[in-house]
Amino acid sequence: MRQTGVRGMRPGRTPSIVERITSDPRSTPFSVEFYPPRNEKEEQRLWRAVRTFEQLHPAFVSLTYGAGGSTRDRTVRIAGQIATETTLLPVAHLTAVDHSISELRGLVGSYADRGIVNLLALRGDPPGDPLGDWVMHPEGVEYAEELVRLIRELGDFHVGVASFPEGHYRAKDLDHDTYYLLNKLRAGADYSITQMFFEVEDYLRLRDRVVAADPVQGEKPIIPGLLPITSLKQVRKIVELSGSQIPPYLEERLARAAGSGPEEDRAEVRKVGIELATKMSERLIAEGAPCLHFCTLNFSRATQEVLTNLGLAPVPA
Ligand SMILES: Cc1cc2nc3c(=O)[nH]c(=O)nc-3n(C[C@H](O)[C@H](O)[C@H](O)COP(=O)(O)OP(=O)(O)OC[C@H]3O[C@@H](n4cnc5c(N)ncnc54)[C@H](O)[C@@H]3O)c2cc1C
Repeated sequence: MRQTGVRGMRPGRTPSIVERITSDPRSTPFSVEFYPPRNEKEEQRLWRAVRTFEQLHPAFVSLTYGAGGSTRDRTVRIAGQIATETTLLPVAHLTAVDHSISELRGLVGSYADRGIVNLLALRGDPPGDPLGDWVMHPEGVEYAEELVRLIRELGDFHVGVASFPEGHYRAKDLDHDTYYLLNKLRAGADYSITQMFFEVEDYLRLRDRVVAADPVQGEKPIIPGLLPITSLKQVRKIVELSGSQIPPYLEERLARAAGSGPEEDRAEVRKVGIELATKMSERLIAEGAPCLHFCTLNFSRATQEVLTNLGLAPVPA
């Protein structure tokens, strides 16, 4: 398997995410998440964000994997460009949606060809209606756990998985949710990244559940996912599609900030969002979170403001 550096861009072995975050000189490093752009304009915006974050030295950057063919190709291409044309360490997401095992093998091979060895193994959601019935590809896999095993069989990859502070919306209860997360870790995942959440207690309880159920797997990092909110309409949509929730107190605060006009007051919503993400980050740092993972929506400014508040980045220009 090829690794970053073989093409001469960055010599040496590509580190795993766990190596990267545990060797970071900062007590709590951060990482950022991008999604594959849908058109040329979005692609330019993505690259502006990539170049801005490159100056801020995230521990890693992750790139989500969509439902359609062309967006999937873009994830592979852009993750490859990040690996070879920047100093950033990419984590490429991949999902089991509409893929046979043979296609999944091919996809993992495409990542390897581009020097990508850090993968986030996900089941994905049904295309069209994420909350609708999950239908497995007849020659595919049913759960992310199987995808973890498949990737591990294919080579020396470092695999992460998803975890859910509020519990996954399809899980019967939090105990089942923990049980299935542990299965993914036991199958060979090295760490998990959580779905974004708004109550730090939910993250801490997830961590406690995992440690109590299996102290060995409980050693593996659970990286909290954070969204600096910049729009009420947008966060409502994101939360609805992910099957999670905005706590009532926050919904009320954001609604007050948004005002009652035809267009929400983005500046006021943003203030609340940045303050919340900063406070959550401070608490997570105090609680020993291994890394802070920011969903950027391919913009850099809001995340950079939070990082500035935390003393992890200079004031944005
Ligand atoms: C950090 C992060 C990144 C993400 N990135 C993407 C992305 O790039 N693209 C995308 O499409 N989606 C992405 N998602 C969304 C994710 O694909 C969905 O949340 C999906 O519904 C669950 O994926 P999973 O990998 O956790 O599935 P799984 O771990 O397979 O779990 C799915 C459901 O089945 C249950 N379960 C697991 N194993 C079993 C079993 N053996 N028997 C019975 N029930 C079981 C679980 O409790 C859960 O309810 C991401 C989510 C997170 C948190």
